[in-house]
Amino acid sequence: MNSVAIVGGGITGLAAAFRLSQSRIPVTLYEAGERVGGPIHTISENGYLSEHGPNTILETSPKITSLINDLGLQPRRLDSNPAMDKNFIVRNGKMRQLPMSPLRFATSSLFSIPAKLRIGLEPLIRAKPQTEDESLADFVRRRFGREFLDFTIDPFVTGVYAGKPEDLSVRYAFPKLKALEDKYGSVMLGAILGARERKKRAETKKARAKKVSFDNGLQVLVDTLQAKLLESVALRSRVTRLGQTADGWTVTFTRDGREEQNRHSTVVLAAPAYQLARIEIEADEPADLSLLKEIPHPPVARVVMGFRREDVADPLEGFGFLVPKAENLNILGTTFSSSIFPRRAPFGHVLLTTFIGGCRQPELATQPAEKLFDLTLRDLQRILGVRGEPTYRHHGLFPWAIPQYNVGHKKFVDFMNAAETRFAGLYFAGSYRDGISTGNCIVSGHDVAGRTIQFLETSNRGLSAHAVLS
Ligand SMILES: Cc1cc2nc3c(=O)[nH]c(=O)nc-3n(C[C@H](O)[C@H](O)[C@H](O)COP(=O)(O)OP(=O)(O)OC[C@H]3O[C@@H](n4cnc5c(N)ncnc54)[C@H](O)[C@@H]3O)c2cc1C
Repeated sequence: MNSVAIVGGGITGLAAAFRLSQSRIPVTLYEAGERVGGPIHTISENGYLSEHGPNTILETSPKITSLINDLGLQPRRLDSNPAMDKNFIVRNGKMRQLPMSPLRFATSSLFSIPAKLRIGLEPLIRAKPQTEDESLADFVRRRFGREFLDFTIDPFVTGVYAGKPEDLSVRYAFPKLKALEDKYGSVMLGAILGARERKKRAETKKARAKKVSFDNGLQVLVDTLQAKLLESVALRSRVTRLGQTADGWTVTFTRDGREEQNRHSTVVLAAPAYQLARIEIEADEPADLSLLKEIPHPPVARVVMGFRREDVADPLEGFGFLVPKAENLNILGTTFSSSIFPRRAPFGHVLLTTFIGGCRQPELATQPAEKLFDLTLRDLQRILGVRGEPTYRHHGLFPWAIPQYNVGHKKFVDFMNAAETRFAGLYFAGSYRDGISTGNCIVSGHDVAGRTIQFLETSNRGLSAHAVLS
């Protein structure tokens, strides 16, 4: 027995398994479903190439770059069209470009003049010593004023978390933002002064990071990881129980209706929090992961539509638009998929990907597909001047889409830290713990592999790692 069990074959589990296999450590990756990748799933249909889940990976860490390079995917990598880096926010039914420079900010029609003055005062607002968790909305209102919250942060948070700024914790959902206030007394000053530290950590600022995909979509990354891991991947294998033994763990799983068991030195938990909550832990003292099901996961529907280019009045010169709550529309936002990467739509056509539901309107996400096609078309007619009928339509639902790091999230973090201390060789990793973006999950997988190797090297569990991760 000298191997690592990874529970969950999303991008976190795959990245962790790959890093471990690079160090020639035997791994079994248990995946409950028929396929790996979680929401990462590219669909090729009628000449359109659309993403079921994430559209891009934001390359904020060298660990993401090295995964792509180590998999030999550099030649297939696509960086988003830099001319399409503009983001739009809807205000009064019209798209306004989100200003990314002081000059653009000064001339932007997104904010009123009093709002611009209030935003400009941010460096003068005194920092609040934090003893308690604060919501993102309170934090932004306090530092930047109401209009910045309503017309930048609210739509942005909808685009990233499908969440609500009133519920999300600034400390846990946007730790870097809070750290800027704590360290520099101001978010704006910190963003300027913190550049040197980011460079030291070899991190890239989110606004400057490349948005990456591949010639045949993000599926290429998942397929390549699966091909490299080959027989280490156990599909249709749902882990139900973990038993602690003197020298490791017994993993009980059901495959094709039958219960089976394997023994491993360590276990990495990379399934979503609400699924982990169902796994029993058998140890000297009773243990239970059911607290994790309290992490909220709102539903999100995704509507993909193709149109003839001439049937869309807007030039679609950007990444897409986001909708503030104050606009009272049905959709959360739309990505201009065929503007970002080439060959996403047949010649003379465009592809638009729209998200509906989230914490703002969870009841909309679960409406029948036909209703969502109608709602989407109506909003796209208003915002983009869509005239004709779609030439392509696709609908998907994520009933438990994205974990919310809400105010009070500390209790979950404390719970996981305590469980890792209590159970030697048990690790938590993935979107519910280390950040929700695909890039965060790759880094989480990389780092948990490093922690596992370190543990195996120091605990005499029968393994010598051949190469220690940097
Ligand atoms: C609609 C949508 C759009 C998104 N868009 C973007 C985007 O544009 N950019 C971005 O960076 N991020 C985006 N994200 C977020 C990102 O895709 C996810 O956070 C990330 O893929 C989660 O990866 P994970 O490995 O943590 O979990 P998952 O991908 O959820 O993988 C967990 C796996 O565990 C398996 N599993 C569950 N229970 C068990 C069990 N008991 N035993 C074995 N296996 C089990 C599941 O079947 C699943 O395959 C989006 C997410 C969604 C839903």
